[in-house]
Amino acid sequence: TVQSNQVKSGQRKQLCKLVLDHFDKQYSEELGQLWTTAREVLLDPRCWQYGVMLNRFSESTELRQLLQTQDYSSLLPQDSGSLQCFVHQSQIRFPSQKHQPGQLKQYYLLNAASLLPVLALGVRDGDRVLDLCSAPGGKAVAILQSATPGLLHCNELDCHRWKWLAETLESFIPQALNDAVKVFNLDGRLFGQIEAGAYDKVLVDAPCSNDRSWLFAAPQQGALWLQERSKLPDLQTELLSSALAAIRPGGTVVYSTCTLSRAENSAVVERILTSCPNTELQDLGGLARSLSHHFTFDPNSKFGILIVPEKGRTWGPMFVAKLKKH
Ligand code: SAM
Repeated sequence: TVQSNQVKSGQRKQLCKLVLDHFDKQYSEELGQLWTTAREVLLDPRCWQYGVMLNRFSESTELRQLLQTQDYSSLLPQDSGSLQCFVHQSQIRFPSQKHQPGQLKQYYLLNAASLLPVLALGVRDGDRVLDLCSAPGGKAVAILQSATPGLLHCNELDCHRWKWLAETLESFIPQALNDAVKVFNLDGRLFGQIEAGAYDKVLVDAPCSNDRSWLFAAPQQGALWLQERSKLPDLQTELLSSALAAIRPGGTVVYSTCTLSRAENSAVVERILTSCPNTELQDLGGLARSLSHHFTFDPNSKFGILIVPEKGRTWGPMFVAKLKKH
């Protein structure tokens, strides 16, 4: 059952000065004033908000009542489908539910901006879907809240994270869906060859500079990540290109990251559009407008939409682009 004694978010975290200096230089150039807005949020974990995504396979009236009495509001219009996420103005946080084998969890805590790629993918019942970089599985769970795909293949390269993914799915998805939902432990760059044209929709929630957590890296870890950072755009481009090869003509791919970095966002999409002539960028302006009362978007973002955290609406960073193959 859900406990009503909620914990305050934001344990004491140690800031990584090296990463901050790097971001200050790059993001003030790329985003100007918006970086000042985002910086204030990213540096203060005590103000971070959390969304509560309900599990439709483990409905609880008690939980809904609790959310109502605590002034949570629905992120999405109530009539918009089975995906339901509740958000709060303040940073109060529900307790995480422990994994208990054989028992479904009632909710998943997340940065509400993480739902944007899933909404952009727009999975319908019966779709053949691939979640190429899937661990720990938040977006796979959200996909299964929004529709019942004909199949959902969830892939993760890292063995440790792959186990975490399998555990997440076990905690949220009833066994009856086991035939449709499969977990893979492969390099996502292979799917374009081994599963060419097999899917209607692919999500590439790419490995990226995770701005939020990098800022609180231990000094050595921060230095290592920054050193490896320049390799990410090539990896991201290869993953996106593999995803495009894995969809049928007429299918769609959503590319997302949780960084503000232009090199990992619009530059990757631009590279793909230049090198794959049968690929067309889809407009996400309507989706952004429908959520503009919750999320702050970068008005200058190209080749996709970018949620920038702001005090009181601390969601993001999240970049999302949608591509269609002819
Ligand atoms: N989609 C996940 C979710 O919503 O919970 C988060 C995914 S995280 C941003 C990116 C993931 O990609 C990481 O778990 C990372 O281990 C994985 N990854 C890195 N390189 C990969 C590759 N070549 N193929 C597949 N997955 C990869």
